[in-house]
Amino acid sequence: MNQHHIEVTVSVDNFKSNISHIRDRVQPAQLCVVMKANAYGHGLQQLAPTAVVAGAEYIGICTNPEATVIRELGLDVKLLRLRMGLPEELQESIDSLNIEEQVGTIEVAKYLSEAGVKRGKKIPVHINIDTGMGRSGFFFNQTEELKQVCGLPGINIVGVMTHFASSDGKDLGFTHYQIEQFEKARQVLKNYVSHNVLTHTHNSAATVRISNESNQLVRVGAACYGVRTSQDFENPPELKPVMSVKTRVAQVRKVPKGKTIGYGSLFTTQRDSLIASLPVGFGEGYPRSLFNKGIVLIKGHRCPVVGRVSLNITTVDITDIPEPVEWGDEVVLVGTQGKEEITFEELADKFASVHTEINLMAGFMNQVSYV
Ligand SMILES: *Cc1c(COP(=O)(O)O)cnc(C)c1O
Repeated sequence: MNQHHIEVTVSVDNFKSNISHIRDRVQPAQLCVVMKANAYGHGLQQLAPTAVVAGAEYIGICTNPEATVIRELGLDVKLLRLRMGLPEELQESIDSLNIEEQVGTIEVAKYLSEAGVKRGKKIPVHINIDTGMGRSGFFFNQTEELKQVCGLPGINIVGVMTHFASSDGKDLGFTHYQIEQFEKARQVLKNYVSHNVLTHTHNSAATVRISNESNQLVRVGAACYGVRTSQDFENPPELKPVMSVKTRVAQVRKVPKGKTIGYGSLFTTQRDSLIASLPVGFGEGYPRSLFNKGIVLIKGHRCPVVGRVSLNITTVDITDIPEPVEWGDEVVLVGTQGKEEITFEELADKFASVHTEINLMAGFMNQVSYV
């Protein structure tokens, strides 16, 4: 049975061309396409083969079920876990998933090394350096620990990485500080790791904004899905949106001046109005926080959300649309209609969130069509 009330569409072509663009931009560096959280809600299983065809050497994941999806697809690609693994996760990974793990503590390094020795085959790992993200990893001046990790017999250090805290901000000062810290770690590690170790620091924002010359791998998520990570910079025009979300008009009503609309009566009509009800709400992943803030497109016009977003109904003011709006007409929640466009970033900015949250919810809560 098809959904009629919401249409979530993912453009596989745009995903592919975004990756090709990033591929060209960063070469000769390798590319890790970040596909955690079900490919940011876009569908891991459906998109992973395209990521590989488009040139990803690595796919970035967080969980073992995500890794299993890739392994069952039989794709020829390396997997990098983008967070610290738990003991059970590491064990499974060693036994059957072959994920390249982050090492950010001696404890994890030893755990993996012992397993590698027992197996008689070294386990590939990436040393995680905390240059300012503050969530995990070694500081560059933990010289003794770093030396110890490099001396362990059962692991093979294939990468050294760090993660930026604010490469999407207006001011790149802290990012440049992080790059300096990383350079210090590189100096410390130089004598202990192989010279063809992959160093990697850049996420989407950094890849778009800062040269990656000194590293051999980038880890890019958002840009592959055609979204930019903040309002402080523009993506190159080659990066095109991948997901769009549409619904239909469920009812059009004339509402006189002075009436309230929705739960909590948070909106009062200031004039005789035309209000359209849409058959979607936060049950479809349209953020509840968009009450009195969201915008939708109908007949190519921007129409404001009025009142609360309910679980399965949202109300919009269509008084200013010159042409008649009818039951069943198309409504764009995210995407283009006529000359207008609404992006995930624009909506997210309205309630201090990030596009990924809306992508995720839309992808998780609805059927997705791949075109
Ligand atoms: C999620 C993640 C990325 C990708 O970030 P984007 O901003 O989506 O490109 C890169 N590196 C790490 C460690 C991550 O967790």
